[in-house]
Amino acid sequence: MSLPFINIHTHNKLKESEIGIESFSIDKVSFYQEWPQSYSVGLHPWYLYKLNIEQSLKQLEYIASNVNMKAVGECGLDRAIARNFDEQKYAFLKQIEIAEFIDKPMIIHNVRAYSDFLGILKNKKPVVPFIFHAYNSNKDILDKLIKYNVYFSMGAEILVNNSKAQRILPHIPINRLFIETDEWQGNIEELYSYVAMVKGFDIDRIKSEVYYNYRSVFV
Ligand SMILES: [Zn+2]
Repeated sequence: MSLPFINIHTHNKLKESEIGIESFSIDKVSFYQEWPQSYSVGLHPWYLYKLNIEQSLKQLEYIASNVNMKAVGECGLDRAIARNFDEQKYAFLKQIEIAEFIDKPMIIHNVRAYSDFLGILKNKKPVVPFIFHAYNSNKDILDKLIKYNVYFSMGAEILVNNSKAQRILPHIPINRLFIETDEWQGNIEELYSYVAMVKGFDIDRIKSEVYYNYRSVFV
């Protein structure tokens, strides 16, 4: 029996060959929501302006009690948008509290905010793992982050020649690696094949390593 492809973060429906996490933004969630087998929900920094933050955090707390909600996110910090950064930080720190309370990992959106995340990891010492989705930062930052309980998820940007994600991939230890399609509509097998080539293993080995990571993070 061949192992499924772990797709740690997608905004699409998981395919039959995949297991993983379908991600929902809290502003899109309704009372009549049909939930998939396994999902995450979060307050994304891009959409905070639409939300009553306190109310959304309450809603998230309520949703988070479901066993099929596997992670909090995506959520995080984005210094490239003009929104109030203090508000982003407030919403993110509150979501850490929720994740810690339910003891589930977080799927992290980061744009130019690694020093903020490093500060939070250092000072708050969260117990739950942080999964940096669409990781594309440099080796220096990787070396700093890796001292904490964090994982790095790689998406379709690794297929783009000389992209930041492609350049950092060889440095990401396989025991901290995840693979995701995010908004990309392509076939996840293509991403696994590319990772396999870079790491010098066959695709089944990458599948089993990522599967093992999944089982260690998501009980
Ligand atoms: Zn996403």
